[in-house]
Amino acid sequence: MKSNNNSSAAQITRAYAWMLLALTTIISLAIITVVGYNLVENKRQQAISLMGSLQHSFIDNQPDWDYWAYTSPIDTSNTFVKITDDFPKKPTKTFYSKNTESFLDNTWDTWPLLSHIQYQDDQGFYYHILTTKTDKKGKKIHYEIWLSLNNAIHLFRLILEIIISITLLGFIVGAWLISLLAKRLNAPLVHLTVTAHKIVERPEMTHHEKLPVPQRPQEVHDLSLEFNRLLSHLNQQVIRDHQFVSDASHELRTPLAGIRGHVALIKRHGTAHPEIIANSLSFIDTESQRMQELIEDLLQLSRMDHAHLTLATTDMTTLIQTISQRYQTQIPQPVQLQLQANVSASVNAPSVEQILIGLLANASKYSPPDQPIIISLTQHQHNVYLTVADQGVGISAADKVKIFERFYRVDSSRSQKIAGTGLGLAIVARLVTLNHGKIVVTDNQPTGSQFRINFTAASPNS
Ligand code: ADP
Repeated sequence: MKSNNNSSAAQITRAYAWMLLALTTIISLAIITVVGYNLVENKRQQAISLMGSLQHSFIDNQPDWDYWAYTSPIDTSNTFVKITDDFPKKPTKTFYSKNTESFLDNTWDTWPLLSHIQYQDDQGFYYHILTTKTDKKGKKIHYEIWLSLNNAIHLFRLILEIIISITLLGFIVGAWLISLLAKRLNAPLVHLTVTAHKIVERPEMTHHEKLPVPQRPQEVHDLSLEFNRLLSHLNQQVIRDHQFVSDASHELRTPLAGIRGHVALIKRHGTAHPEIIANSLSFIDTESQRMQELIEDLLQLSRMDHAHLTLATTDMTTLIQTISQRYQTQIPQPVQLQLQANVSASVNAPSVEQILIGLLANASKYSPPDQPIIISLTQHQHNVYLTVADQGVGISAADKVKIFERFYRVDSSRSQKIAGTGLGLAIVARLVTLNHGKIVVTDNQPTGSQFRINFTAASPNS
């Protein structure tokens, strides 16, 4: 299985990288702002304190200045002081601390928002403050101090380098670990995919193929279980479809063979023995009629596989009454009705008619002509029960579970005598399901069978 940029391992690693980048940027910006501000603030405090000491000394002549310069603890290699004594009508006097004159020879870069910070290529960054004091006589003294920021900048750069190094290390090691972990987590999924691929590629693939079910992780375990359930469901459907096609072919082949036999008989002996023609034609007529019924049932079943019925509130009492009275003319058994009044269900009326006629036809076929068939209709809360009971031959327990299968006919010798395709109850069961109902078969007392269907009662407001 080829790995690509869309694999979850790659996606998780990418997400981690972006998260780390965002986090590092935020932390770096926060540290840079706090540290930078503190360093500059520290210098500002130093400059203010130095300025205080300068002003306190009231320096306005050379001896005072020399004394201050001598006693001041300033480091003259990175701190520079300039004082300008400005009398209104006298020449300006300027005092410089050691090295200040040569320091000020350079041209300095400044920036609009950082007016206290100055930069020069050879000297680096400096913090500069200027204070002017005016006394009562109008004398102005300008105090200027420059404090080196280079140590602070150095510390600042060191912090930045450490952050970047830690981030890079975190990125490389983290990305590697995360990608390893993601691959480990995905391994069962990849294994599933490989196995599924192998199964599909295998020439002798059967209907019983299953995917391996890993114990961990739980999601993949559940996925494989569900996938196997789906596979088995689909396989059963395929097997049923195969069986259906083979049963249908078999059912059609038998009458067709009979018909062809009689046609051959007429061809060979029809001229010499014309009396056999009527018999053969009657056989051909019956069998072709059976084939027609079979084909119609098959078509109906196949259409119903993907059908969807519209259900509507239906007055079941009236519907059952009408259908039974109409169908009574076609069967010898007396149909007795035990219908609860005003029962409504949420059903598709034409399909209920088809269900009832199917059950009545069977009850009639498999019970003596003089025994009554009882149709009852009752409602219990949300359920509407429709029952068709006969006094006929009954159905054994073993057959009860099979009679709704396609082409299943009980006891072939008996079925041979009674016309049928073995599809009637399969159609009834499918129609019941499409009406969101359930059908069960039980024994009738003292004899015969009864089919009971459970429909959903119509809601009172509908
Ligand atoms: P068929 O065309 O054979 O009637 P069905 O699917 O309608 O096919 O019924 C399947 C089988 O169930 C029948 O062959 C029959 O043996 C049995 N059966 C159906 N209804 C009854 C009934 N009311 N009493 C006894 N047996 C029945």
